Amino acid sequence: MGENFTSGGFRHRLPGCGRSGGGSAVLCDCLFPRLTASLRPVNKYRIGIDLGGTKIEGVVLDPTGHEVIRRRIATERERGYQHILKCLKSLHDGLLPAAKGAPTTFGIGTPGAISRRTGLLKNSNTVCMNGQPVKADLEKLLGRPIEIQNDANCFALAEALLGAGRGKNLVFGVIMGTGCGGGVVYKGEVFTGPQAIAGEWGHMSIDPQGPVCYCGQKGCVETFISGGGLENRYAAKFGARRPLKEIEAEYFAGEPRAVELMREFFDHFGRSLANLIDVLDPDVVVLGGGVSNFRALYTEGVAGVKKYVFTDVLETPIVKNQLGDSAGVLGAALVGI
Ligand SMILES: [Zn+2]
Repeated sequence: MGENFTSGGFRHRLPGCGRSGGGSAVLCDCLFPRLTASLRPVNKYRIGIDLGGTKIEGVVLDPTGHEVIRRRIATERERGYQHILKCLKSLHDGLLPAAKGAPTTFGIGTPGAISRRTGLLKNSNTVCMNGQPVKADLEKLLGRPIEIQNDANCFALAEALLGAGRGKNLVFGVIMGTGCGGGVVYKGEVFTGPQAIAGEWGHMSIDPQGPVCYCGQKGCVETFISGGGLENRYAAKFGARRPLKEIEAEYFAGEPRAVELMREFFDHFGRSLANLIDVLDPDVVVLGGGVSNFRALYTEGVAGVKKYVFTDVLETPIVKNQLGDSAGVLGAALVGI
């Protein structure tokens, strides 16, 4: 995928779609009945932007849910807050003509959350954004109202309405990527809580003696089971850095260090998710982020959950996402105002 692209092919991976092929020229429409059936009717185009640490992706959906255009630019977060605002404005303005002058909604998904008390962004791992009035600044810059929602909440909403959580009442969406996020969707709506932190399971401490987390605590779930956490654990234990994909390959090849690390990982994954299931008892847990591609998560990882969960038989389905990398940007389009 290049810097700018239009895509529709991911839809063909959805279950129930008998079509093959893909690409921007031949759009499969199997996503759209789900979209229109699951949303309140809005006679508007929907613009969604997923603000990530390395890339910013935007999409426009037409009033029936068809994807009109998708674009991606680099975040360049090292250039600071004002630069990121400019990038968001330029992407928004570049997407807007796809709505052909019709009314639009606009939503942004980002790590962290807007504090209801101060209106400032908090908890973002793009730390130059923290403490900034992102929503107010962007509304001023663009001259329109916008909704800003946590990226894991956007992921959970998209999967709940369009992906692996369809038809379920209570969906917990988990992202295990660079960090570790989570989102709660109940009956098709994101549940955020009064402090906008609902679902932030990545910062539950499961070991007070554990590694220091950027949030200031020790032994957060994120420091053990995110992609970044796993790579750090490998480096701390064995004195060398290995990318996640290599650790996975070495695990399947039976390499003793990778096996030792992954045993620890499955135990931490099991403990973390069991704690969460004990509190929430969701109808389904949908996993996303780079670590969710790790096949053993659905066997050895789930066995770890069974070990710690407070029930005789674990009935909670723990499944892989269906929308892939598209969930975040689709969720952002779905939460727009
Ligand atoms: Zn933390």
